[in-house]
Amino acid sequence: MHILLHICCGPCAIVPLEQLLEEGHAISGFFYNPNIHPLTEYMKRREGAIQVAAHFGIPLSLYDEPQGARIFFRAVNGREESGTSGRCGVCHAMRLARTAAEAAARGCDAFTSSLLYSRHQDHAYLKEQGAAAAGLHPGPAFLYRDFRKGWQRGIDRSKELGIYRQQYCGCLYSIEDRYAKDFERMKNAFPGA
Ligand code: SF4
Repeated sequence: MHILLHICCGPCAIVPLEQLLEEGHAISGFFYNPNIHPLTEYMKRREGAIQVAAHFGIPLSLYDEPQGARIFFRAVNGREESGTSGRCGVCHAMRLARTAAEAAARGCDAFTSSLLYSRHQDHAYLKEQGAAAAGLHPGPAFLYRDFRKGWQRGIDRSKELGIYRQQYCGCLYSIEDRYAKDFERMKNAFPGA
């Protein structure tokens, strides 16, 4: 099959690429992630995706949404809380929908996502959203795979290859969540007025 793989970042793409190429599929990569903030972080993850694609010898398209952050924030407005009923549901749906459209335009047989490598994502929800995205366009089906079994291998290989590894999920809200405890410690040490 010709499969379009949505790539959220380099490290998460390693295990999906290993497995799908091993199975004999033709894979094209698609980097579309307006949820990654700020731009400096986006650039690092974009570069990581390029490095991984080059390592595996697959073509990679980079869909740099003009003013992507604004589009993301408009989309999650009113649903800023974490989780599939909040911003993460919107975030997944927008990336899968764009990938489905791209896969249909290219005449791919299927599309899938490196998000399915992450132990932090809700797989049942991703499966549902992938199928919904496939339903928006005739042609390619959503290919569900549980890539989480390769979790440690993906970490080890990304370190061996020197691929940038992020410290938070992606959006500004996830930065707040990730560093909330550090910030509390800082506030306790140096209280404000
Ligand atoms: S926490 Fe991650 S999945 Fe959720 S909205 Fe932010 S970037 Fe998207």
